[in-house]
Amino acid sequence: MRPPANPAPELIPIVERILMAVAIRIDVTTSGIWQLSSIVLSDGGECLVVDPGYFPRELVDLARLAGERGRARGVVFTHGHWDHVVGWTAFPEAAVHASRALADAVAGGGELARANLDKARDFDGRWYVDRSLAWPASVAALGEGDSLTVGGAAVRALLLPGHSPDGLALIADGTLLCGDYLSPLEIPFVDDLAAYRQTLARMLALLGELDQVVPGHGPRLSPGEARTIARADLAYLDALARCAERGDDAGAAAIALPRAASVPGMREHHAANWQACRRRTPG
Ligand SMILES: [Zn+2]
Repeated sequence: MRPPANPAPELIPIVERILMAVAIRIDVTTSGIWQLSSIVLSDGGECLVVDPGYFPRELVDLARLAGERGRARGVVFTHGHWDHVVGWTAFPEAAVHASRALADAVAGGGELARANLDKARDFDGRWYVDRSLAWPASVAALGEGDSLTVGGAAVRALLLPGHSPDGLALIADGTLLCGDYLSPLEIPFVDDLAAYRQTLARMLALLGELDQVVPGHGPRLSPGEARTIARADLAYLDALARCAERGDDAGAAAIALPRAASVPGMREHHAANWQACRRRTPG
């Protein structure tokens, strides 16, 4: 005899109920800007929205999707770069979460917060995107190992500096949402070389426990695909570090990019990485 389609809760074995409680649903939408990933984590009639972006019509669709999944109880920023943050206004009832570094920058109106919003205003102006931009009135700080709950499940925060000082990743079940690391579409954009290398090493150590990775730009990755990207990025950053130790400008200019070498602007990003390394290398 077939079991009923929707058995009463008391008929569901307890182990199965526990499994149901932690099975977070993960929807990913892809923006027209740089294939930005916006993620809806949902369970039990609630959801968290990570990096809501970017264009107004995309945000209408994202809010509709989140609404189908449940009440949006939170928005999480993986970091403060402008493409990842402007869409929080599509979820006015949701609390906004980020790393302590970003929460403090927003609260204090610091340079980091101001510069990111200025870049968004500049982009919107150039592309005739008609809206007003602001940071949330308050951003709740997440620390290393802190958890947010969605439905019956917990989502864990990791602090991952290197691309930016305010970087934060989430682990939901076996899925790592890593912001601007491990993208198959671009090279690393480096703020702090030593921190970036540590972050990559940390993610490599985690990958064995994961089912998938959702980078901030580009498609979902299997752990094997993410591992290949992480290793290539580490090799690239190691080459930058060796050149920085020697003050070798010509050597740095000749470093092969780990991917996306034909993408317009990527060589300029490499030059900016080198400048960031030089700034932080004493002597
Ligand atoms: Zn970024």
